[in-house]
Amino acid sequence: MNQHIHCIINNCHYWAEGNKCVANEILVTPDAFASNQPDNIDATMAKQLTPAAADSCMATCCKTFVPKGSDRMNADNVTKMS
Ligand code: SF4
Repeated sequence: MNQHIHCIINNCHYWAEGNKCVANEILVTPDAFASNQPDNIDATMAKQLTPAAADSCMATCCKTFVPKGSDRMNADNVTKMS
C-alpha cells in the first residue's frame, strides 16, 4: 500500500518537513480511549484492540503522537520510516 499520512503537528517526534508523518505506522483512536491508555498501547498492538466509534473528527486523536525530545519516544515501539 502506497499510503501517505499528512500531519501538521510539528512538535511530534514523527513529523517531517512538508507536513509528512514518517512513523512506519500510527494508531488513531477515540479521544476517550487514548486518554485512558498508557503510551505502550499504540499501533504495534492494533490487531488486539476493539474497534470503537467516534461522533466526529474532533473526537479522534493520533495515539502515536509523542513530543520531540520526550523520554517516552520509544514507549510505543513505533519506528520512523527510513
Ligand atoms: S505520529 Fe501522529 S501526530 Fe505524529 S506526525 Fe504522525 S500523524 Fe502526526
